[in-house]
Amino acid sequence: MVRKVGVLALQGNYIQHKKMLDILGINNILVQYPRELEKCDLLIIPGGESTAISKQIDRNKFRQPIMNFVETNSIFGTCAGMILLSSTKETNNLKSLGVMDFNVERNAYGRQVNSFTEIVQLEFDSTDNFNALFIRAPKVSYLGKGIKILATYKNTPAMITDGKHFATTFHPEIGTDVRIHKYIMEKINA
Ligand code: GLN
Repeated sequence: MVRKVGVLALQGNYIQHKKMLDILGINNILVQYPRELEKCDLLIIPGGESTAISKQIDRNKFRQPIMNFVETNSIFGTCAGMILLSSTKETNNLKSLGVMDFNVERNAYGRQVNSFTEIVQLEFDSTDNFNALFIRAPKVSYLGKGIKILATYKNTPAMITDGKHFATTFHPEIGTDVRIHKYIMEKINA
C-alpha cells in the first residue's frame, strides 16, 4: 500500500510530479535528504539531467540509501530518472543505479529543440492513446528478459516495468493526463 510517495528533489522536473500526485490526492513529499526515504513506499526520480542527478545523488549521500530502499520499495523513473534506473555502463559523469535490467542510449531523439509530442499506446488502457512528450529522451538499447513493455513508440519501448519498478522515456508528469501515475499507484497497491 502506498502511504507516501517521495519525489527526489535534487534536480529536474520534481515539482510537476508533485503536482500530479496532488491532483490524484496522493500523500507525497519532496525528498532532499536520505533520511526522508524512510517515510516513503515509492520514490519518483524525475526527468532533468541524468549526469547532474547522478552527481547530486553522490554529493548528498543518497546512493546507498536508495539501494537499501529498492530492496523493499518501488522506484518510478522518467526520462533522466529512467537513465538512472538502468544498467547502462558507467561513463565519466554518469553512474546509473542499475536497479533494472535494461540499457539506454542517451539523447537518442536529438537535442532540446527537437523535443516533440507523439501518441503512444498504453498496454494497460486502450480507451485512449497517451500524448507523450519526449525531451532529449533516451532510447532503450537493451532489454532484459524480465522486463515488460507497457507502452511503445515507433517499435521501441517507451514505458517498461520489471513488475516492481517503472520507467518512461517520456514525461508523463507534464500535461493533465494522470493515467500513468494512477496506474503505477494501483499496481503497487495491488
Ligand atoms: N537527455 C537527458 C539526460 O541524459 C534527459 C532529458 C530529460 O530528462 N528530459 O539526462
